[in-house]
Amino acid sequence: MTFTPDRPLRVLVVGSGPSGIFAADALIKQTEIPVQIDVLDRLPTPYGLVRYGVAPDHLKIKSVTAGFEKTLSDPRVRFLGNVSFGTELTYDEAKGHYDALFYTFGASSDRRLGIPGEDLTGSMSATEFVAWYNGHPDAAAREMLLSATGVAVVGVGNVALDVSRILSKTVTELRDSDIAGHALDALEHSPVKDVWILGRRGAAQAKFTTRELREFGELHLSEPVVRPEEIQVSQADEEAADSTVKKNLEVLRAFAARAPEDKARRLHLRFLVSPVEILDDGHGHVGGLKVERNRLDESGSAVGTGEYEVLPVQMVLRSVGYRGVQIQGVPFDPSRGVIPNEQGRVTGRVGEYTAGWIKRGPSGVIGTNKADAVESVKLLLEDARNGTLQPVQSSSRERIDALLSAKAVDVVTLADWKALDAHELMTGQAQGRPRAKVPSKAQMLEVIRGGRG
Ligand code: NAP
Repeated sequence: MTFTPDRPLRVLVVGSGPSGIFAADALIKQTEIPVQIDVLDRLPTPYGLVRYGVAPDHLKIKSVTAGFEKTLSDPRVRFLGNVSFGTELTYDEAKGHYDALFYTFGASSDRRLGIPGEDLTGSMSATEFVAWYNGHPDAAAREMLLSATGVAVVGVGNVALDVSRILSKTVTELRDSDIAGHALDALEHSPVKDVWILGRRGAAQAKFTTRELREFGELHLSEPVVRPEEIQVSQADEEAADSTVKKNLEVLRAFAARAPEDKARRLHLRFLVSPVEILDDGHGHVGGLKVERNRLDESGSAVGTGEYEVLPVQMVLRSVGYRGVQIQGVPFDPSRGVIPNEQGRVTGRVGEYTAGWIKRGPSGVIGTNKADAVESVKLLLEDARNGTLQPVQSSSRERIDALLSAKAVDVVTLADWKALDAHELMTGQAQGRPRAKVPSKAQMLEVIRGGRG
């Protein structure tokens, strides 16, 4: 079948985060095959982790949404928000209405440490904490007890640095961010004094990037603390270091050499330590974190030395990676937390593709997902060209609209989102802040319905 402007290639993109939008963008940028794309999201808001993952004080990174809005505004593209794939639109229904399905629903869960005490009150994933302070509707209603004076953050990736920085900033520093109002209020009363960021391997193996690390040295109330003996690296690691590792080591060495400033809060960057048990305070709450000192073996893996210490913390945030979640009808590899695929073609399925974290796992920055989505889109176009795709008998926007309307799904359009966006910006401005996020789905829909008149 040849796709034409009257019968374009109809694609459903599941997930409106960066990967989904980059995929839609790659599809509309080519001119060979006419396309029509629906970008679905279970939330009423587009942009996925740009809205709910990127740190609220990193507003510049979020400016990428201007380009995303342009893609969603193209007449060949529609945003269908507030529609859950797998339930409100089932796999079979989607398969019957679209020529191709493109999964870009990311990694919404987290990895666990697998140590005793992980389920104590006060122990949680950084993913949950990030979702809470970013006003994600799944997490906004959560009671977040910020009574800890000591917090351990396990892992040394950029997410670990984000949560540690947010915990260490003053409310004045955070007012310029788009942090959720409930989080700003809670953080204002947080008694936190010490945050420990724990790397199981050495400083040369840390995953964070230098710009984020440098910010630790620029906080009003908090100072970085680094032990010189923990950032010593082997000759081999020094020689193998890429430019990021070299710059990280430079900054860490400068931190280690700083004279104490006696600031009210301290950010302890610790290396070669692994959590082995989260201790109970006797009331089911975190009462400390037992860690073991490590050394690196020949292969660069952490090996315990049998030396232990207990950190005086009442909160533990594991920041050891996000994890994909299965959606009904979509193949899933539980060991890797991804959709099994070959360069983006879903294994064993015709006309199904994937991109982003659910394709390759939770790695890379926003831009990484562009090349990744383009790679998968190329395969989709190749299959459309060579007849591998099995187009549906008849397909139209109206048929999908009728299907969702029959199920009483209140689809949020791009115009609806723009109204909500404008509302958030306006309410934020009135509070002297860049944005005041509406934190619950019900409230978002109320604002949206109000805007429809
Ligand atoms: P990440 O960069 O993969 O870091 C995960 C960290 O957890 C690593 O230090 C890892 O150590 C450690 N870890 C894993 N299992 C562990 C265990 N059992 N015990 C102790 N430590 C353990 O993941 P992320 O921080 O969640 O970030 C995800 C992606 O988003 C990354 O690509 C990141 O760069 C990106 N991101 C970027 C920004 C930004 O650009 N500003 C902000 C946030 C996130 P090992 O190396 O030893 O495994």
